[in-house]
Amino acid sequence: MEQRELVIVGAGPAGMTAAIYGRRAGLDVLLLERGLAGGQVNLTEEIENWPGMPRISGADLGNTFRGHALSLDAEIRAAEVEKIERRGEAKVVVTDKEEIGAEAVILATGAAFHPLGCAGEEEHVGRGVSYCAVCDGPLYADEEIAVVGGGNSAVEEAVSLTNFASKVYLIHRRDEFRAGRAAVDRALSNSKIVPVRNSVVEKIDGEETVEKIFIKNVKTGEGSSLPVTGVFIFVGQTPNDSVFRGLVKATEEGWVLTDENMETSVEGIFAAGDVRHKRLRQIVTAASDGAAAALGAAAYVNEQLHLRSVLLEPESVTAFFYSGADAAQARLSDEAEKIAKEKNKYFPIIDGYKNARMTGKLGVALPSVAELHRGAVVKAAPIASAADIVRALD
Ligand SMILES: Cc1cc2nc3c(=O)[nH]c(=O)nc-3n(C[C@H](O)[C@H](O)[C@H](O)COP(=O)(O)OP(=O)(O)OC[C@H]3O[C@@H](n4cnc5c(N)ncnc54)[C@H](O)[C@@H]3O)c2cc1C
Repeated sequence: MEQRELVIVGAGPAGMTAAIYGRRAGLDVLLLERGLAGGQVNLTEEIENWPGMPRISGADLGNTFRGHALSLDAEIRAAEVEKIERRGEAKVVVTDKEEIGAEAVILATGAAFHPLGCAGEEEHVGRGVSYCAVCDGPLYADEEIAVVGGGNSAVEEAVSLTNFASKVYLIHRRDEFRAGRAAVDRALSNSKIVPVRNSVVEKIDGEETVEKIFIKNVKTGEGSSLPVTGVFIFVGQTPNDSVFRGLVKATEEGWVLTDENMETSVEGIFAAGDVRHKRLRQIVTAASDGAAAALGAAAYVNEQLHLRSVLLEPESVTAFFYSGADAAQARLSDEAEKIAKEKNKYFPIIDGYKNARMTGKLGVALPSVAELHRGAVVKAAPIASAADIVRALD
């Protein structure tokens, strides 16, 4: 099986930033992407909040990320990840083509639009129902369409769709749009946009493609229809969590829980970007998560590789374990190094504070000298002084 140091699932802003930071930290990086590198950025016509670039198209920003990751020799591979498994200590990423072993994994699978859930929606996907204005907008030149939702995506995309459509009904179930004031003002001052408040879509109808929608006013109960050929739905997001659901801890809705290093409940598996449980899902926060996750992964991989080679792989080894956070123990570690040199003995000195995970697994107290055979502790003795170390090495 192919074995990699860091496998990143998803090449959106989070995954690509993680690839950049991972390569710069010296890791061998494989990025797996099932669609277009760039993720949701590809759905965004114009981005105005990426620092240093007052205005850039989503496609251009995605290409810049991709070019940057490739320039550092990160490998980007087209593959759909189907499952992530733990096989003992090993992590295996199962794709539609192969299985890949990974020292560390970063989940950067992002999020997806929520379906509306009304009658006729599912059967008209791709035949009038869309969740992506920039993908499908040009198909509706000079036609009348509807946008459903009241948040930023709905309001901004309604404006961008006026570049193609002759009329855009902006349907929201409440009185007030939830989007930011500037976005709402821009939409409502656009003569092609017709706001339809307090209304829900009950049915999307049409023989082959969408021909009309039935809506209901939630205040009056009155029903009516609108003659539209396209319905763009922007009513929320869900995490793309299906390939690791149940593997890592997450909220009820599936948003992945991490610590501040972006590590999930499973050691060596990190999460970054929109898939995480967090308040603000933006390009800049996805990139920030990606950077932290990659550095967390680099620390983890280095710890694993180093400890494995000095502690777990040798047939037999005696090592000194101490806490680098304790001044007296740190002094003892200097003594230990000196004594080993004098006795010309191989004597790995492990900071159990920094490598708490490994010391915890081995079950050694700090400070102590432990003898390991094929990775298992066979003898351990607490250490109080340099004399104890001398005795342990004799
Ligand atoms: C219409 C729209 C407009 C937006 N406008 C802005 C804006 O102006 N400014 C801003 O900052 N943010 C904006 N955002 C939000 C921003 O795009 C996201 O916050 C950001 O892209 C999240 O990055 P990510 O890497 O976490 O996830 P994503 O961008 O969602 O990328 C995840 C990637 O993972 C891949 N993937 C998922 N599952 C698998 C799998 N099983 N196998 C392989 N690959 C997989 C997906 O194909 C995708 O490419 C907008 C979003 C939308 C939808």
